[in-house]
Amino acid sequence: MKLPSLNAQIVIGCLLGLAAGGWLSTLGSAPVVGDVLYGAKMVGNLFLDLLRMVLVPLVFASIVTGVANLRAHDQMHRVWTATLGFFMLTMIIAIVIGFGTAHIFRPGEGLHLEMFAEATRGYQARQMTLPDYIAQFMRGLFQNPFKALAQGDILAIVIIALFLGIALVIGGERYRNIRNLMTELQELCLMVVGWIMRLAPLGLAALLLQLVATQDSALLASLGHFIVVIIGSTLFHGVIVLPFLLWLITGVSPLRFFRGAREALLTAFVTSSSNATLPVTLRCTEQHLHVKKDIVSFVVPLGATVNMDGTALYEAAAALFVARLAGIELDIASQLIVFFVAMLGAIGAPGIPSVGMLSMVLVLESVGLPTEAIAILLPIDRILDTVRTAVNVEGDMVGSLVVQKLAGGAREG
Ligand code: ASP
Repeated sequence: MKLPSLNAQIVIGCLLGLAAGGWLSTLGSAPVVGDVLYGAKMVGNLFLDLLRMVLVPLVFASIVTGVANLRAHDQMHRVWTATLGFFMLTMIIAIVIGFGTAHIFRPGEGLHLEMFAEATRGYQARQMTLPDYIAQFMRGLFQNPFKALAQGDILAIVIIALFLGIALVIGGERYRNIRNLMTELQELCLMVVGWIMRLAPLGLAALLLQLVATQDSALLASLGHFIVVIIGSTLFHGVIVLPFLLWLITGVSPLRFFRGAREALLTAFVTSSSNATLPVTLRCTEQHLHVKKDIVSFVVPLGATVNMDGTALYEAAAALFVARLAGIELDIASQLIVFFVAMLGAIGAPGIPSVGMLSMVLVLESVGLPTEAIAILLPIDRILDTVRTAVNVEGDMVGSLVVQKLAGGAREG
Protein backbone atom coordinates (compact mmCIF):
# COMPACT_ATOMS: atom_id res chain seq x y z
CA MET A 1 0.00 0.00 0.00
CA LYS A 2 1.29 3.44 -0.90
CA LEU A 3 1.52 5.84 2.06
CA PRO A 4 0.10 9.37 1.69
CA SER A 5 2.67 12.17 1.15
CA LEU A 6 4.67 13.40 4.14
CA ASN A 7 2.66 16.62 4.22
CA ALA A 8 -0.61 14.71 4.32
CA GLN A 9 0.77 12.44 7.04
CA ILE A 10 1.76 15.47 9.11
CA VAL A 11 -1.71 17.00 8.81
CA ILE A 12 -3.37 13.67 9.70
CA GLY A 13 -0.97 13.24 12.65
CA CYS A 14 -1.80 16.70 13.98
CA LEU A 15 -5.54 16.11 13.70
CA LEU A 16 -5.26 12.75 15.47
CA GLY A 17 -3.11 14.34 18.19
CA LEU A 18 -5.69 17.08 18.73
CA ALA A 19 -8.56 14.62 18.86
CA ALA A 20 -6.76 12.25 21.24
CA GLY A 21 -5.74 15.15 23.50
CA GLY A 22 -9.34 16.40 23.59
CA TRP A 23 -10.58 12.93 24.46
CA LEU A 24 -7.99 12.49 27.22
CA SER A 25 -8.93 15.79 28.81
CA THR A 26 -12.49 14.51 29.26
CA LEU A 27 -11.25 11.49 31.23
CA GLY A 28 -10.05 13.50 34.23
CA SER A 29 -7.52 11.57 36.28
CA ALA A 30 -8.21 8.05 35.00
CA PRO A 31 -5.03 5.89 35.11
CA VAL A 32 -4.94 5.56 31.34
CA VAL A 33 -4.37 9.34 31.06
CA GLY A 34 -1.02 9.14 32.83
CA ASP A 35 0.12 6.22 30.69
CA VAL A 36 -0.83 7.86 27.41
CA LEU A 37 0.77 11.15 28.46
CA TYR A 38 3.94 9.30 29.42
CA GLY A 39 4.12 7.63 25.99
CA ALA A 40 3.35 10.91 24.22
CA LYS A 41 6.09 12.65 26.15
CA MET A 42 8.64 10.02 25.14
CA VAL A 43 7.75 10.24 21.45
CA GLY A 44 7.48 14.04 21.43
CA ASN A 45 10.82 14.45 23.18
CA LEU A 46 12.46 11.97 20.84
CA PHE A 47 11.39 14.06 17.85
CA LEU A 48 12.56 17.30 19.49
CA ASP A 49 15.89 15.77 20.54
CA LEU A 50 16.53 14.56 17.01
CA LEU A 51 15.93 18.05 15.65
CA ARG A 52 18.19 19.55 18.32
CA MET A 53 20.84 16.99 17.45
CA VAL A 54 21.35 18.45 13.96
CA LEU A 55 20.61 22.05 14.94
CA VAL A 56 24.07 23.31 15.90
CA PRO A 57 26.15 21.86 13.03
CA LEU A 58 23.42 22.80 10.57
CA VAL A 59 23.11 26.41 11.71
CA PHE A 60 26.85 26.88 11.89
CA ALA A 61 27.57 25.35 8.49
CA SER A 62 24.60 27.15 6.90
CA ILE A 63 25.66 30.61 7.97
CA VAL A 64 29.31 30.13 7.12
CA THR A 65 28.32 28.82 3.68
CA GLY A 66 25.71 31.52 3.22
CA VAL A 67 28.07 34.38 3.96
CA ALA A 68 31.05 32.85 2.19
CA ASN A 69 28.99 32.47 -0.96
CA LEU A 70 27.91 36.09 -0.97
CA ARG A 71 31.34 36.81 -2.30
CA ALA A 72 30.93 40.24 -3.86
CA HIS A 73 30.99 42.87 -1.14
CA ASP A 74 28.26 45.15 -2.44
CA GLN A 75 25.94 42.21 -2.68
CA MET A 76 26.71 41.25 0.88
CA HIS A 77 25.90 44.77 1.91
CA ARG A 78 22.57 44.63 0.10
CA VAL A 79 21.62 41.33 1.70
CA TRP A 80 22.47 42.70 5.15
CA THR A 81 20.52 45.90 4.77
CA ALA A 82 17.52 44.23 3.14
CA THR A 83 17.43 41.58 5.88
CA LEU A 84 17.68 43.93 8.83
CA GLY A 85 15.39 46.50 7.19
CA PHE A 86 12.70 43.90 6.57
CA PHE A 87 12.99 42.42 10.06
CA MET A 88 12.61 45.86 11.67
CA LEU A 89 9.71 46.85 9.43
CA THR A 90 7.68 43.73 10.15
CA MET A 91 8.32 43.86 13.89
CA ILE A 92 7.20 47.49 14.00
CA ILE A 93 4.02 46.58 12.11
CA ALA A 94 3.45 43.67 14.52
CA ILE A 95 3.73 45.94 17.56
CA VAL A 96 1.35 48.47 16.01
CA ILE A 97 -1.16 45.66 15.42
CA GLY A 98 -0.69 44.47 19.02
CA PHE A 99 -1.40 47.94 20.36
CA GLY A 100 -4.23 48.54 17.91
CA THR A 101 -6.16 45.38 18.73
CA ALA A 102 -5.58 45.80 22.48
CA HIS A 103 -7.09 49.28 22.21
CA ILE A 104 -10.00 48.28 20.01
CA PHE A 105 -11.02 45.02 21.69
CA ARG A 106 -9.93 46.02 25.19
CA PRO A 107 -9.19 42.55 26.62
CA GLY A 108 -9.07 42.60 30.41
CA GLU A 109 -11.91 45.05 30.80
CA GLY A 110 -14.11 43.97 33.70
CA LEU A 111 -11.36 41.74 35.14
CA HIS A 112 -9.16 42.79 38.07
CA LEU A 113 -5.84 41.60 39.27
CA GLU A 114 -7.32 40.75 42.70
CA MET A 115 -9.59 38.17 41.04
CA PHE A 116 -6.46 36.16 40.35
CA ALA A 117 -5.08 36.37 43.89
CA GLU A 118 -4.78 32.60 44.03
CA ALA A 119 -2.58 32.50 40.94
CA THR A 120 -0.41 35.46 41.79
CA ARG A 121 0.18 34.61 45.45
CA GLY A 122 3.76 33.68 46.13
CA TYR A 123 4.86 34.53 42.62
CA GLN A 124 8.35 35.96 42.50
CA ALA A 125 9.22 37.69 39.25
CA ARG A 126 12.80 37.30 38.13
CA GLN A 127 14.02 40.84 38.57
CA MET A 128 15.91 42.25 35.64
CA THR A 129 16.13 45.92 34.78
CA LEU A 130 16.50 47.20 31.23
CA PRO A 131 20.22 48.07 31.59
CA ASP A 132 20.85 44.59 33.07
CA TYR A 133 19.01 43.02 30.18
CA ILE A 134 20.98 44.98 27.59
CA ALA A 135 24.27 44.20 29.36
CA GLN A 136 23.43 40.50 29.48
CA PHE A 137 22.41 40.52 25.83
CA MET A 138 25.67 42.23 24.79
CA ARG A 139 27.76 39.81 26.84
CA GLY A 140 26.07 36.85 25.22
CA LEU A 141 26.98 38.02 21.72
CA PHE A 142 30.69 37.16 21.67
CA GLN A 143 31.71 33.89 23.20
CA ASN A 144 34.30 31.20 23.04
CA PRO A 145 33.23 29.29 19.88
CA PHE A 146 33.68 25.90 21.51
CA LYS A 147 31.59 26.87 24.49
CA ALA A 148 28.85 28.35 22.34
CA LEU A 149 28.77 25.31 20.06
CA ALA A 150 28.78 22.89 22.98
CA GLN A 151 26.04 24.75 24.81
CA GLY A 152 23.98 25.34 21.68
CA ASP A 153 23.86 29.08 22.22
CA ILE A 154 22.34 30.04 18.90
CA LEU A 155 22.90 33.79 18.94
CA ALA A 156 26.60 33.42 19.75
CA ILE A 157 26.91 30.67 17.11
CA VAL A 158 25.33 32.97 14.52
CA ILE A 159 27.89 35.67 15.31
CA ILE A 160 30.88 33.31 15.22
CA ALA A 161 29.69 31.84 11.93
CA LEU A 162 29.27 35.36 10.50
CA PHE A 163 32.88 36.15 11.40
CA LEU A 164 34.16 32.92 9.85
CA GLY A 165 32.03 33.46 6.74
CA ILE A 166 33.36 37.00 6.29
CA ALA A 167 36.93 35.77 6.83
CA LEU A 168 36.37 33.19 4.10
CA VAL A 169 35.07 35.89 1.77
CA ILE A 170 38.14 38.03 2.38
CA GLY A 171 40.56 35.09 2.36
CA GLY A 172 39.29 34.02 -1.05
CA GLU A 173 40.32 30.92 -3.00
CA ARG A 174 43.11 29.96 -0.64
CA TYR A 175 40.51 28.71 1.86
CA ARG A 176 38.24 26.93 -0.56
CA ASN A 177 38.71 23.62 1.30
CA ILE A 178 37.06 24.96 4.41
CA ARG A 179 34.34 26.53 2.31
CA ASN A 180 33.67 23.23 0.58
CA LEU A 181 33.76 21.40 3.90
CA MET A 182 31.08 23.69 5.30
CA THR A 183 28.92 23.35 2.18
CA GLU A 184 29.09 19.60 2.36
CA LEU A 185 28.44 19.56 6.10
CA GLN A 186 25.31 21.63 5.50
CA GLU A 187 24.11 19.28 2.76
CA LEU A 188 24.65 16.25 4.97
CA CYS A 189 22.80 17.83 7.88
CA LEU A 190 19.86 18.59 5.60
CA MET A 191 19.86 14.97 4.48
CA VAL A 192 19.57 13.90 8.12
CA VAL A 193 16.76 16.43 8.64
CA GLY A 194 14.94 14.72 5.78
CA TRP A 195 15.14 11.42 7.71
CA ILE A 196 14.03 13.01 10.97
CA MET A 197 11.02 14.54 9.26
CA ARG A 198 9.67 11.06 8.60
CA LEU A 199 9.03 10.92 12.30
CA ALA A 200 7.29 14.32 12.22
CA PRO A 201 3.70 13.01 11.90
CA LEU A 202 4.12 10.92 15.04
CA GLY A 203 6.24 13.46 16.93
CA LEU A 204 3.90 16.36 16.23
CA ALA A 205 0.84 14.27 17.11
CA ALA A 206 2.41 13.36 20.46
CA LEU A 207 3.30 16.98 21.26
CA LEU A 208 -0.16 18.24 20.31
CA LEU A 209 -1.81 15.54 22.40
CA GLN A 210 0.12 16.72 25.48
CA LEU A 211 -0.67 20.34 24.76
CA VAL A 212 -4.42 19.79 24.54
CA ALA A 213 -4.67 17.28 27.39
CA THR A 214 -2.85 19.40 29.95
CA GLN A 215 -4.63 22.76 29.64
CA ASP A 216 -6.20 24.38 32.69
CA SER A 217 -9.71 24.91 31.36
CA ALA A 218 -10.93 27.19 34.18
CA LEU A 219 -8.20 29.73 33.55
CA LEU A 220 -8.65 29.42 29.79
CA ALA A 221 -12.31 30.29 30.18
CA SER A 222 -11.79 33.36 32.35
CA LEU A 223 -9.07 34.71 30.08
CA GLY A 224 -10.84 33.58 26.91
CA HIS A 225 -11.31 37.08 25.52
CA PHE A 226 -7.62 37.92 25.90
CA ILE A 227 -6.60 34.62 24.29
CA VAL A 228 -8.92 35.17 21.35
CA VAL A 229 -7.68 38.74 20.82
CA ILE A 230 -4.01 37.68 20.93
CA ILE A 231 -4.47 34.67 18.66
CA GLY A 232 -6.69 36.69 16.30
CA SER A 233 -4.25 39.57 15.97
CA THR A 234 -1.24 37.27 15.60
CA LEU A 235 -3.09 35.39 12.87
CA PHE A 236 -4.01 38.69 11.23
CA HIS A 237 -0.31 39.50 11.03
CA GLY A 238 0.57 36.01 9.79
CA VAL A 239 -2.28 35.42 7.38
CA ILE A 240 -2.90 38.93 6.01
CA VAL A 241 0.02 41.30 6.66
CA LEU A 242 3.06 39.11 5.97
CA PRO A 243 1.57 37.39 2.88
CA PHE A 244 0.46 40.80 1.57
CA LEU A 245 3.97 42.25 1.99
CA LEU A 246 5.38 39.13 0.36
CA TRP A 247 3.05 39.41 -2.60
CA LEU A 248 3.63 43.16 -2.92
CA ILE A 249 7.41 42.87 -2.99
CA THR A 250 7.98 39.53 -4.70
CA GLY A 251 4.73 38.64 -6.47
CA VAL A 252 4.70 35.22 -4.73
CA SER A 253 1.07 34.21 -4.03
CA PRO A 254 0.04 33.40 -0.45
CA LEU A 255 -1.16 29.98 -1.56
CA ARG A 256 2.22 29.08 -3.02
CA PHE A 257 3.94 30.40 0.06
CA PHE A 258 1.83 28.49 2.57
CA ARG A 259 2.07 25.30 0.54
CA GLY A 260 5.87 25.51 0.66
CA ALA A 261 6.03 26.67 4.27
CA ARG A 262 3.50 24.43 5.99
CA GLU A 263 5.91 21.78 7.29
CA ALA A 264 7.90 24.45 9.10
CA LEU A 265 4.83 26.37 10.30
CA LEU A 266 3.24 23.25 11.75
CA THR A 267 6.49 22.24 13.45
CA ALA A 268 6.84 25.73 14.93
CA PHE A 269 3.21 25.69 16.08
CA VAL A 270 3.59 22.39 17.85
CA THR A 271 7.10 22.77 19.28
CA SER A 272 6.78 26.47 20.24
CA SER A 273 10.44 26.85 19.48
CA SER A 274 11.91 28.74 16.51
CA ASN A 275 15.26 27.14 17.28
CA ALA A 276 14.03 23.55 17.32
CA THR A 277 12.18 24.32 14.07
CA LEU A 278 15.25 25.82 12.39
CA PRO A 279 16.33 22.64 10.58
CA VAL A 280 12.82 22.31 9.12
CA THR A 281 12.64 26.02 8.26
CA LEU A 282 15.94 25.84 6.38
CA ARG A 283 14.80 22.77 4.51
CA CYS A 284 11.40 24.23 3.52
CA THR A 285 12.74 27.63 2.49
CA GLU A 286 15.43 26.13 0.32
CA GLN A 287 13.73 23.06 -1.06
CA HIS A 288 10.06 24.04 -1.23
CA LEU A 289 10.16 27.82 -1.61
CA HIS A 290 13.28 27.66 -3.78
CA VAL A 291 15.18 30.49 -2.16
CA LYS A 292 18.89 30.38 -3.03
CA LYS A 293 21.05 28.63 -0.53
CA ASP A 294 23.21 31.69 0.25
CA ILE A 295 20.20 33.81 1.13
CA VAL A 296 18.39 31.13 3.16
CA SER A 297 21.54 30.26 5.05
CA PHE A 298 22.01 33.83 6.11
CA VAL A 299 18.46 35.12 6.66
CA VAL A 300 16.76 32.16 8.34
CA PRO A 301 19.18 31.39 11.21
CA LEU A 302 19.63 35.08 11.94
CA GLY A 303 15.87 35.61 11.84
CA ALA A 304 15.25 32.70 14.21
CA THR A 305 16.89 34.62 17.01
CA VAL A 306 16.34 38.29 16.19
CA ASN A 307 13.17 38.46 14.10
CA MET A 308 10.12 37.68 16.20
CA ASP A 309 6.98 39.37 14.97
CA GLY A 310 4.65 37.18 17.03
CA THR A 311 6.59 37.83 20.23
CA ALA A 312 6.76 41.59 19.64
CA LEU A 313 3.02 41.74 18.98
CA TYR A 314 2.25 39.68 22.05
CA GLU A 315 4.38 41.74 24.40
CA ALA A 316 2.82 45.00 23.30
CA ALA A 317 -0.75 43.70 23.57
CA ALA A 318 -0.14 41.86 26.84
CA ALA A 319 1.34 44.98 28.46
CA LEU A 320 -1.89 46.87 27.77
CA PHE A 321 -3.86 43.88 29.05
CA VAL A 322 -1.96 43.80 32.33
CA ALA A 323 -2.34 47.58 32.68
CA ARG A 324 -6.09 47.16 32.38
CA LEU A 325 -6.13 44.31 34.94
CA ALA A 326 -4.25 46.56 37.32
CA GLY A 327 -6.62 49.45 36.59
CA ILE A 328 -3.91 51.66 35.07
CA GLU A 329 -4.28 53.59 31.80
CA LEU A 330 -0.87 53.88 30.14
CA ASP A 331 -0.16 57.35 28.75
CA ILE A 332 1.47 57.92 25.38
CA ALA A 333 4.99 58.17 26.83
CA SER A 334 4.58 54.83 28.62
CA GLN A 335 3.18 53.24 25.49
CA LEU A 336 6.24 54.42 23.57
CA ILE A 337 8.48 52.83 26.17
CA VAL A 338 6.49 49.59 25.86
CA PHE A 339 6.93 49.84 22.10
CA PHE A 340 10.72 49.99 22.28
CA VAL A 341 11.14 47.50 25.07
CA ALA A 342 8.83 45.01 23.34
CA MET A 343 10.97 45.36 20.24
CA LEU A 344 14.18 44.89 22.21
CA GLY A 345 12.69 41.96 24.09
CA ALA A 346 11.71 40.26 20.84
CA ILE A 347 15.16 40.82 19.33
CA GLY A 348 16.98 39.60 22.43
CA ALA A 349 14.75 36.60 23.14
CA PRO A 350 16.19 33.27 22.00
CA GLY A 351 13.79 31.09 20.00
CA ILE A 352 12.77 28.67 22.72
CA PRO A 353 9.38 27.94 24.32
CA SER A 354 7.80 30.65 26.45
CA VAL A 355 10.89 32.80 26.51
CA GLY A 356 8.69 35.73 25.54
CA MET A 357 7.53 35.55 29.18
CA LEU A 358 10.97 36.59 30.40
CA SER A 359 11.12 39.69 28.28
CA MET A 360 7.49 40.31 29.24
CA VAL A 361 8.71 40.92 32.80
CA LEU A 362 11.07 43.50 31.37
CA VAL A 363 8.28 45.24 29.45
CA LEU A 364 6.07 45.37 32.56
CA GLU A 365 8.88 46.67 34.73
CA SER A 366 9.88 49.34 32.26
CA VAL A 367 6.58 51.14 32.82
CA GLY A 368 6.00 50.14 36.43
CA LEU A 369 3.27 47.55 35.85
CA PRO A 370 2.89 44.73 38.40
CA THR A 371 5.11 41.84 37.40
CA GLU A 372 3.04 39.32 39.40
CA ALA A 373 0.61 39.45 36.48
CA ILE A 374 3.03 37.09 34.74
CA ALA A 375 1.67 34.40 37.05
CA ILE A 376 -1.64 34.70 35.19
CA LEU A 377 -0.05 34.82 31.77
CA LEU A 378 2.25 31.84 32.31
CA PRO A 379 -0.35 29.07 32.55
CA ILE A 380 -1.97 30.18 29.30
CA ASP A 381 1.34 30.81 27.57
CA ARG A 382 1.75 27.33 26.15
CA ILE A 383 -1.32 27.89 24.02
CA LEU A 384 -0.40 31.44 22.92
CA ASP A 385 3.17 30.42 22.20
CA THR A 386 1.97 28.07 19.42
CA VAL A 387 0.67 30.74 17.04
CA ARG A 388 3.30 33.26 18.15
CA THR A 389 6.16 30.91 17.24
CA ALA A 390 4.56 29.92 13.92
CA VAL A 391 4.35 33.61 12.97
CA ASN A 392 7.93 34.18 14.16
CA VAL A 393 9.10 31.43 11.81
CA GLU A 394 6.84 32.63 9.00
CA GLY A 395 8.49 36.06 9.23
CA ASP A 396 11.90 34.48 8.62
CA MET A 397 10.68 32.55 5.58
CA VAL A 398 8.91 35.58 4.10
CA GLY A 399 12.08 37.57 4.85
CA SER A 400 14.19 35.13 2.80
CA LEU A 401 11.96 35.49 -0.24
CA VAL A 402 11.89 39.26 0.12
CA VAL A 403 15.66 39.55 0.57
CA GLN A 404 16.22 37.31 -2.44
CA LYS A 405 14.07 39.66 -4.50
CA LEU A 406 15.55 42.90 -3.14
CA ALA A 407 19.18 41.82 -3.16
CA GLY A 408 18.76 39.92 -6.45
CA GLY A 409 21.45 38.09 -8.33
CA ALA A 410 23.19 36.36 -5.41
CA ARG A 411 25.21 33.45 -6.75
CA GLU A 412 24.04 29.93 -6.17
CA GLY A 413 26.07 28.17 -3.46
N1 ASP B 1 8.64 30.54 21.58
C1 ASP B 1 8.99 31.67 20.75
C2 ASP B 1 9.91 31.23 19.64
O1 ASP B 1 10.61 30.26 19.76
C3 ASP B 1 9.61 32.78 21.52
C4 ASP B 1 8.62 33.34 22.52
O2 ASP B 1 8.40 32.75 23.56
O3 ASP B 1 8.02 34.38 22.22
O4 ASP B 1 9.96 31.87 18.61
